[in-house]
Amino acid sequence: EIAENWSWVEGVESRARSYARRFPVEFSHGQGSELITADGRRFIDLLAGAGVQALGHAHPRILAAIADEQAPIISSLDLTTSAKVRFLQTFLGVLPKSLEGDAKVHFCGPTGSDGVEAACKLARRVTGRRGLFTFYGSYHGMSQGALSLTASRDARRAGLDARMDVTFCPFPYPFRGKGAWSDPEAAIDLALAHVETLLEDDHSGTDIPAAMIIEAVQGEGGSIVAPPRFLRGLRALCDRFGILLILDEIQAGMGRSGRWWALEHADINPDMMVVSKAVGGGIPMALLVYRKEYDVWEPGDHIGTFRGQHLAFVAGRAVLEEMQESNLVDRVAQMGSRLTQRLQSLVDRYDMAGEARGVGLLQGLELVGRPGLTASEASRTVQARLFERGVVIERGGRDGATLRFLPPLTIPETTLDQAVDLLEQELARL
Ligand code: PMP
Repeated sequence: EIAENWSWVEGVESRARSYARRFPVEFSHGQGSELITADGRRFIDLLAGAGVQALGHAHPRILAAIADEQAPIISSLDLTTSAKVRFLQTFLGVLPKSLEGDAKVHFCGPTGSDGVEAACKLARRVTGRRGLFTFYGSYHGMSQGALSLTASRDARRAGLDARMDVTFCPFPYPFRGKGAWSDPEAAIDLALAHVETLLEDDHSGTDIPAAMIIEAVQGEGGSIVAPPRFLRGLRALCDRFGILLILDEIQAGMGRSGRWWALEHADINPDMMVVSKAVGGGIPMALLVYRKEYDVWEPGDHIGTFRGQHLAFVAGRAVLEEMQESNLVDRVAQMGSRLTQRLQSLVDRYDMAGEARGVGLLQGLELVGRPGLTASEASRTVQARLFERGVVIERGGRDGATLRFLPPLTIPETTLDQAVDLLEQELARL
């Protein structure tokens, strides 16, 4: 009944988690917010390559930019190229105010995980300390170092991570909070007090870390927004103890939260910021942005073959320019408020819709179980039924109970409405 058991393409199936089993059709192409199969079935894409396709599929500006640049393609490593310089000039123009004029950009890559690894390495080099603090519910990647910062027990099963010196700290999540943790304001106080105690008490068994790494809006963790007061409190603790604050903007950044950078909702200054996914316009790219004073790399400290992705510079610049010229980030904020209202109205009307969360076009609806059906089974069932009705939606968070909305930022209002209508019908049916 559920897509995960389907084996449909010979030789492809394996035991690994795989979207191929969950969405068992062959997509031949995409157009805007839709994925289209070889036999012409159209699906609304609420996944957008996990947030990569900010402008949707096959955006004419990106296609044109890539077509223009195909002939002079240069595989450049870290040589300076015109495409790289032009990309950087545009990218520096969208940085958060607090980094303006005080930012260095290190090309990592090509995956987000590698940007996270680079951030950790640099923070350790700058501070001479080993430890890293991260947070419950976090997702920072799957390479061994990044995996050791990712909170999911399943993902880290059997020591698959490289066991860096990592301390997991509570992240306010009142919906599932126990006791006082279920109160949103108390949860912030408690979470900050926890971190402060770890740092202040020299009998806490925890050394002062090199850095804290956090998502201002947790993505895979279930679309959970870090309260601004929590982020500001962490910033203050980092200042007091000489710890670097790294914002993982890989999923929440690039306009998805309705601001260019999710950290801007809390108005905090990052020491470092990791960017990937949408920044390459669909071509793999990851960047580490950090303050100039932290530029202590020695040549060769963090290198890699594909740090000079010519097409990623070209497509990335097209995305940035298109977003600027079309005021896309403002549109995301408006669309986001509308989506929040609609998801909240589902929570008001359906018992199994537990909590609507998120901001901009990074939102989620956490389902709850009922006798005979767990929250996880409920979300799996809704996902499978929505797929049958032409919607690709991913689940995330604890028990996979959260249905996640991360469509292209350009998704038409009517298309998003249609997807929520279908979701509503499936909730009613449940
Ligand atoms: N950080 C965050 C917040 C992410 O969402 C992801 C990817 N889902 C990563 C890091 C890892 O990026 P990648 O899969 O490109 O390695």
